Amino acid sequence: MHRHVIALSYQHPVAIEYGAGIISPLFDIGREGRTAEAHAHLFGYGGIERFEYFEFYGIGFHSRRVYHTVKSKEGAQSCEAQNLMARICSDVLEKTWLAFEQGFTMNNTETINAVIIGGGVVGLAIAAELSRHTEDVFLIEAMPRLGAGASTRNSGVIHAGIYYPTGSLKAFHSVRGARMLFEFCQHHRVPHHRVGKLIVIDSVDEIDALHSLKRRGDENGVEGLEIIERDSIQKLEPHVASPFALWSPNTGIVEVEELLKTLARTATEQGAHILTDTRLIGVEINDRTTRLRTEREEFSARIVINAAGLYSDDVARMFGYDRHTIYPCRGEYAEVVRSRSDIVHHLVYPLPPASGHGTGVHFTKTLAGVVLVGPNARYVERKDDYEQDRAPLDSFFESASRIIPSLRREDLRLSYSGLRARLLPEHDHSFADFVIAHDPRWPTVIHAIGIESPGLTSALSIAESVSEMARSALGH
Ligand SMILES: Cc1cc2nc3c(=O)[nH]c(=O)nc-3n(C[C@H](O)[C@H](O)[C@H](O)COP(=O)(O)OP(=O)(O)OC[C@H]3O[C@@H](n4cnc5c(N)ncnc54)[C@H](O)[C@@H]3O)c2cc1C
Repeated sequence: MHRHVIALSYQHPVAIEYGAGIISPLFDIGREGRTAEAHAHLFGYGGIERFEYFEFYGIGFHSRRVYHTVKSKEGAQSCEAQNLMARICSDVLEKTWLAFEQGFTMNNTETINAVIIGGGVVGLAIAAELSRHTEDVFLIEAMPRLGAGASTRNSGVIHAGIYYPTGSLKAFHSVRGARMLFEFCQHHRVPHHRVGKLIVIDSVDEIDALHSLKRRGDENGVEGLEIIERDSIQKLEPHVASPFALWSPNTGIVEVEELLKTLARTATEQGAHILTDTRLIGVEINDRTTRLRTEREEFSARIVINAAGLYSDDVARMFGYDRHTIYPCRGEYAEVVRSRSDIVHHLVYPLPPASGHGTGVHFTKTLAGVVLVGPNARYVERKDDYEQDRAPLDSFFESASRIIPSLRREDLRLSYSGLRARLLPEHDHSFADFVIAHDPRWPTVIHAIGIESPGLTSALSIAESVSEMARSALGH
């Protein structure tokens, strides 16, 4: 007999005999065809002619719907594969529910243990950490793809934790987070590089500022900080004209897209469900239940984690928590033309601006060898305004040529921009820390608000803390 079995996902493996209308749930198919085949035989599928494997970024069975983002095993998102899977999914849906109703249960998702709102680096890191300990973790992301917010619109720098007041959450999470992130990247082979960073000054008059930065870094537990002089600076960066600099050997860079994919894969492999295109639009909460309404449907959840980045204040308001407001602060980049990309080799920063807005226009050499100049810091009205009224190249040139005098204006091109989730308005120059806390009224709701830089660096550490808070609220 002509048989064609498709193995769906290693997470919720289901094999169907497509066309014959038979469905059989297979456990632990694993990612290897061998295992799938063995299971298929176990379930009586002899004589299978062809296997196809698909990796699912999230397949969830809830309210009689199957969610899916399909990736073929080879990584190519071929249209053919997508169309085939779309057809199969609707089949699987009906038939899986038939199996559920006949007494087969995989997961009771009627009340989900934890729903994470936001599929940026913070939400994904929480999903990866929480799903190590807890079943039924869902992550919902408003956009069609993960990480489309600040998480892919940044410098990709793994900060060492120098700038932030000692004892602040930013200091704690960046120092611990950087260590965790280096380990994670090494373990999961996410491209990264402990490239090192120089914080440079314009004149010797600023040397005190450099020393106080070093003191703060030392107090925060940053290792290896050193004030170096012109000769040593020039060995590291021949084009930098600075009399002194603070050298931070443990600052690095990471390939963010790869990090996000790895976190998503880790989470789904541990059983988490990641649903893209699923925006939270409303909440009903009382002492017994929390109902989350999305554009697609509703969930009941025991624990809700707000990791909605720029919109985390809006999500908090859905729970009646209105203490914090996010002021979007755009960070725009220019980049150095390829032919001059050897102008820097490390990360080169100025002293942080007195305004407290960002770390100052700096040079970042990405793993792909692109030299970014920026980001600047400009408050904007709207949370989706990335491009209107972009700063002219001259403004980048003015700041950047103070660090590298041999840079020419024609060496620069405008590049992308991102929006910081700032907790303070433009003229407030005080320090705003991350807010990572239970909702004051609803202890089963945890908010991560104002996760601006160093949020990428801190994500794994924030995830560990949030996961502990969630597990203790769940009684796990
Ligand atoms: C210009 C710039 C440079 C930076 N450089 C660095 C750096 O070098 N190093 C560093 O450590 N940090 C850096 N950061 C900070 C870092 O990028 C952020 O702190 C981090 O990405 C925040 O991640 P997140 O997951 O909280 O937010 P996001 O990545 O914004 O993710 C939040 C997600 O929530 C989703 N969402 C929102 N509302 C809803 C809803 N109602 N329902 C469902 N989903 C929703 C959004 O679509 C979004 O995908 C930089 C930031 C900027 C802007």
